[in-house]
Amino acid sequence: MEPIIGIDLGTTNSEVAFIMDGKSTVLMENDNGIVPSCVGLGADGTMSVGTAARNQATLYPDKTVLSIKRLMGSQEKVALGNDSYTPQEISAFILKALKERAQRITGQTITKAVITTPAYFTDAQRQATREAGEIAGLTVIRILNEPTAAALAYESADAHARTILVYDLGGGTFDVSIVRIEDGVVEVLSSTGDNHLGGDDFDLEIENRLLEHIEKEYSIDLSEDTIARARLRHAAEKAKIELSSAPYAAIEEDHIAKKDGMDVHLSYELSRVDFQSMIEHHLQKTMDSVNKALKDAAMLPSALDKIILVGGSTRIPRLSAMLEDSFGIFPNQEIDPDLCVAMGAAIQAGREMGLDSAGILLDITPYTFGTSAIGELDGVMTETLFVPLIRRNTKLPAVKSEVFWTVFSGQERVQIEVYQGEDRDAVNNILIGTYRLDLSPHQPESSPVILKYELDFNGILKITAIEKNTGKQITGVIENAFSEISQDTVSASKSKIDKVWESLDDLDLDLDLDTAIDDSDEKKQVPAETDDAFESLIARARATLENASAEDCEEIINLIEEIKTLAADKKLDEAQKSAQALEDILFYLE
Ligand code: AMP
Repeated sequence: MEPIIGIDLGTTNSEVAFIMDGKSTVLMENDNGIVPSCVGLGADGTMSVGTAARNQATLYPDKTVLSIKRLMGSQEKVALGNDSYTPQEISAFILKALKERAQRITGQTITKAVITTPAYFTDAQRQATREAGEIAGLTVIRILNEPTAAALAYESADAHARTILVYDLGGGTFDVSIVRIEDGVVEVLSSTGDNHLGGDDFDLEIENRLLEHIEKEYSIDLSEDTIARARLRHAAEKAKIELSSAPYAAIEEDHIAKKDGMDVHLSYELSRVDFQSMIEHHLQKTMDSVNKALKDAAMLPSALDKIILVGGSTRIPRLSAMLEDSFGIFPNQEIDPDLCVAMGAAIQAGREMGLDSAGILLDITPYTFGTSAIGELDGVMTETLFVPLIRRNTKLPAVKSEVFWTVFSGQERVQIEVYQGEDRDAVNNILIGTYRLDLSPHQPESSPVILKYELDFNGILKITAIEKNTGKQITGVIENAFSEISQDTVSASKSKIDKVWESLDDLDLDLDLDTAIDDSDEKKQVPAETDDAFESLIARARATLENASAEDCEEIINLIEEIKTLAADKKLDEAQKSAQALEDILFYLE
């Protein structure tokens, strides 16, 4: 049987996949399946493709070709050294590199491929892609739409008819498609997008912020300094990627400029919340396209069964939150969004080879892991709102962190509960760990505390809580976070939690969610520890929360926190005053 490879020939990056041991597998070298879609001419006249070419792009922009996919189907030529090349020829260099990688890894001679293109590509653009394949020595068995490939990667093993939204946000392009899959056959119902929108725009937003900062701090304008800007852009992309899993990113670039003969070093901290507001208008534009795609397919959002995320930029958590808010479906991201299209292309290639549709091996978490918070659950304030950190089906290993804020100035400690489960009320999930972070003295109110979860393939969950102002931290490890928990254990855990809850021990008032921009931005507050001297008053107060107005709830919760902190600090007179204030509110409510 002649081998056929599947290729995702992307604007920014390309990948090649093949059916190995019955599974669609992206072919990796040095643990990396991604080949930058760049072609470069080195100082010695040799041609390079991929990472080497991308690395020289800053130094030799006129000897490096990026994003050639944008020119496919046009008559335009690009210059490289003394020669000029058609877009097909440049693409052929990339395809040849992928073909050779496949030959090295599989040990077979490869002459056939399935190659993907965007659904909106015209005949001329598809034909140019075919030609690029031929030039690279590949017979293109089939040109496959990218959203079709993504849907195949997710759904090839599922016989049920489904309607899927494929949201694909890469480095420089955004595509959204509505596809219908039935008996393994995928039909693209509509497709739209923006050819000039993607992660590069987000990098530019950060780069501009850094330029402004440098101008303000050092009175230097670096906007015309290409080398400094290239460094800033690189740092911006790194920070952006970091912010997908952490609430803050530190940007450090030494010797970025000179001022009065002295070196200027850049040091800037960017928060996720800040970054999200910088890119909000771009994301909103993508949502407009999503609505257009639905309209073009004559479909209501309720007809969607699933949302699939494709492209590196979809790792930005705000994006999933936005889609969930609009469609009530949390998007699927089990398959690496960078590799999903190539995997689907290989599944199609496997079919062309007569192989049964091959599934995909996934390393994903079977459960969601999170913590509890004060917040609104179905319109009612609760102290046990579940805040997921690592969602079910997230690819492993996974690292996620969130920021929370203290309730009072001088708060002494923070209680952290780790839950496993899917229920929006943490009490209905499984408590798998409790930790305490003692805070440094004299910290102001709303001091940030970062909570970080790291989960590996073996179900080892590492928890780190960090007092951001001082760097003080604690860590804990849960060895068997995946262990199958029997129904008995669930009930036992539930009743244990209920019991502890009733006795008002440490499990309450973990984190407080204010109303804020979105799920991930909410200002969550961490608790003070409970002192049991005022237990019965606090229990009565809690009982009123369900029927109290949001305003009263907030007041009650604040007073409970105050009492607990003051009591823990042995400031009993002051605690008594807060208790009286709470009594006054209860008098009306009860
Ligand atoms: P693609 O064109 O699909 O390869 O996507 C490349 C884009 O994804 C680039 O702009 C990357 O900076 C961006 N990207 C990759 N990983 C992440 C991440 N973890 N968070 C945000 N953007 C990312």
